[in-house]
Amino acid sequence: MNRPKCLLCRSEDSGPFLAVQDRNPGKGFQILKCADCGFVYLPLPSEMEEGLSDGQGACPPYPKEYWWTESKGSFFPMLEKIYRDFLLFTEVRDILALVPEGKVLDVGCGKGDILKLLKKKGLEAHGLDSAGEAAGCARNVPGLHVAQGDLVGSEYETGCFDGITFFHVLEHITDPAGTLREAHRVLRDRGILVVQVPNIDSVQSGVFGRNWYGLQVPYHVSHFSPRTLTNLLDQTEFEIIRMKHFSLRCNSMILVSSLFPCLNPQALLERSSRGKNPVLLKLTCLALTLLFQPFALLESTLGRGAVITALARKRSRRGKK
Ligand SMILES: [Zn+2]
Repeated sequence: MNRPKCLLCRSEDSGPFLAVQDRNPGKGFQILKCADCGFVYLPLPSEMEEGLSDGQGACPPYPKEYWWTESKGSFFPMLEKIYRDFLLFTEVRDILALVPEGKVLDVGCGKGDILKLLKKKGLEAHGLDSAGEAAGCARNVPGLHVAQGDLVGSEYETGCFDGITFFHVLEHITDPAGTLREAHRVLRDRGILVVQVPNIDSVQSGVFGRNWYGLQVPYHVSHFSPRTLTNLLDQTEFEIIRMKHFSLRCNSMILVSSLFPCLNPQALLERSSRGKNPVLLKLTCLALTLLFQPFALLESTLGRGAVITALARKRSRRGKK
């Protein structure tokens, strides 16, 4: 029997990290930690190994409701949209500061919410998503340039983008190094890369263990820490400008979702897809998320926030600064 290979360094020397149950009863997964590079990962079933060799490199997609279920009614969805756009803006303002003009690619663009904000700020907004439903939603938005597929295997021209963003994408990828090498190729010299992923070394991850919402087995296969993300960026020729440990959008929400699984975003979307509008649950989630923000701020101050965001710059192959 083949021993599982580390998704970063391909070493076969690993040990158990966490045994996790899927939400489907009886389905268990063993997350491993590489003894050579310290990377935490979910070993691939053989059929996914074939996908990796094809350069596809993604774990199972989310259910289709994840992308397009909107709340029913008119007033509450409008407030919800304003709140979500505000949270998203807190994420994209960094790339807007570093790439004030030009062409930006959002990998894993979903319905195109980030792309719409980038376009509104005058950037040429390109999106890519492996999920057909998501890419279809984003493609219907006028002015966005959206394709379906993975970055590895795409046909973007070398050096054509000024910035590339990966918001909660790299944890789904079975070949993160190959994906970032491709990002390096399609970025212009000194172009900007933004990577946001859950932090397996966070205080929350340590406290909740197998019940931490950031794990999301089997959708998340690559579990980064600040150290392994830094190593990956270095290996793929990016220099880190800044590593952030606080996200107003994510940290407290992940804490609330870990404490109360019925309030996690996927559970709420599933309820919406069944024709229910869980306004009360959403308001409870919002109240708790606001309540726990001080804790999220504290863990971030300790450098162990639930989510890490790396802002990086493409290093020239010639090592030129
Ligand atoms: Zn490794």
